[in-house]
Amino acid sequence: MTETVPSTPPRCQAAGNVTPYVAEMAVNVTRAPGGPPRTTVRCALARHLTFEHEGIVRELDGTEGHVWGSFGAGVPVWRVRVARPCTEQAGHLPCGLYADHPGVCVPARTDAPAAP
Ligand SMILES: [Zn+2]
Ligand SMILES: [Zn+2]
Repeated sequence: MTETVPSTPPRCQAAGNVTPYVAEMAVNVTRAPGGPPRTTVRCALARHLTFEHEGIVRELDGTEGHVWGSFGAGVPVWRVRVARPCTEQAGHLPCGLYADHPGVCVPARTDAPAAP
């Protein structure tokens, strides 16, 4: 039996670095407990034409969302913020993005670099 891979929208492949300064901001931006900041992030958006990429810098516990970081091509993450999860479905999976994200809904990416 062949497992058919559900068709998901093509993903942005951009990756960005998290500088120590931004990593510290990602910790201080919220009191919510969560994982350590990542040193690299992958854009979680579906393929997009805008210049800003968005990736999860820190996973937070609970349902409050995650610490998201904005970065550009060759530009490390320069802004972090806590954003609540998008409540839409991406096919049969919950959308892995944040509320009011640009573009179509996509499931949480499983190839994002793990926390160190
Ligand atoms: Zn992107
Ligand atoms: Zn969504």
